[in-house]
Amino acid sequence: PIYLDNHATTRCDPRVRDVMLPYFCEEFGNAASITHVFGERAKDAVEKARETIAAAVDADPREVIFTSGATESNNLAILGVGRCLPPGSHLVASSIEHPSVLEPLQKLSEEGHTVTLVRPVQNGDPQAGRVLAESVEEALKPNTRLVSIMAANNEIGSVQPIREIAALCRERGIIFHVDAVQALGKVPLRDELREVDLISLSAHKVYGPKGVGALIVRRRQAGFKIQPLIYGGGHERGLRSGTLNVPGIVGFAHAVALALADLENEMVRLQQLRNLLFHLLKEQLGERVQLNGPDLSRPDWRLPGNLNVRFPGIEGETLLLHVPELALSSGSACSSADPRPSHVLLALGLSETEARASIRVGIGRFNTEEEIRYAADVLCSAVRQLVDLQSALEG
Ligand code: PMP
Repeated sequence: PIYLDNHATTRCDPRVRDVMLPYFCEEFGNAASITHVFGERAKDAVEKARETIAAAVDADPREVIFTSGATESNNLAILGVGRCLPPGSHLVASSIEHPSVLEPLQKLSEEGHTVTLVRPVQNGDPQAGRVLAESVEEALKPNTRLVSIMAANNEIGSVQPIREIAALCRERGIIFHVDAVQALGKVPLRDELREVDLISLSAHKVYGPKGVGALIVRRRQAGFKIQPLIYGGGHERGLRSGTLNVPGIVGFAHAVALALADLENEMVRLQQLRNLLFHLLKEQLGERVQLNGPDLSRPDWRLPGNLNVRFPGIEGETLLLHVPELALSSGSACSSADPRPSHVLLALGLSETEARASIRVGIGRFNTEEEIRYAADVLCSAVRQLVDLQSALEG
């Protein structure tokens, strides 16, 4: 099958695998055991990787905390900071955040803080799915201490005005966390994130290995406290104990370096492929395909490789069963264990039926134009078949 689910995960780039390999069996030292060369070499590799990750977001290497991925990074940011705040603090996030942000916030609200979730621009608007700075500003209260807004959404690809929201937070001394998982290596981030206090990153969304990520903890502007989730040997400045995943960290850094080196070209290429796909679907299906999320012409509003569409009257899940040649994801669940329609599509103002009629396409580094044209044909004939079947049943 053709892999078009690059928001869920990406194929590890073989160049990334190659730089990781020596760190399994030859350079296998523990980066914390620096009484010998085995440990020293592992530590050197980790520190070099730390510099690369720091440079990608204009941070100091000492501000990089390696984790097991962005779920952990988001939990560490929200719970770690939230549990150091005065009781009854007010926290703000968008209603389209990843569950690894929303659930820790829910936990904090059970522990006595209050949470406001900001709605994005509604579907139909060219900026649908964007969380505007003015909406965030409206939600702020005198006791707002923490704001968490993702740089780019994993379902509809909306890219958020991080720089503007950061400025709002900075003026008011509010701590600002950004889940930058889907944006890293996909759109320019360095300048956007300059004033952000906490940044979550993950390797496997940027053609690196699974199970490794980072939280950037930048305390130079706001002097906030953060407590660990995991206690032990005091690794990562005491914020994340546990022996470091040296091959993973080395691969993570190389993946980020590769993505940034070719960012501009790849953005153009992916946007062209994505727009071609939508154009082909529209050409053949007309009103039977509708766009979810922001306008396709603006890479500063929507991730270049993201497409999310609905086929009115057709269940996304059913459609996916009819296109086994394509690896896609439906709008009915963010995890197969969860039968509810996507909270992101509902927050856009779609009905449950519309959300269930939606599919997500994530185009990535290894997709070709040929694959996109093929995917369009396969999708169109499956949609027509399902439409015919339905009218036969109704008629
Ligand atoms: N945030 C966003 C926006 C994501 O898309 C994901 C992955 N689905 C995560 C966080 C969690 O990242 P990880 O898989 O590294 O735990």
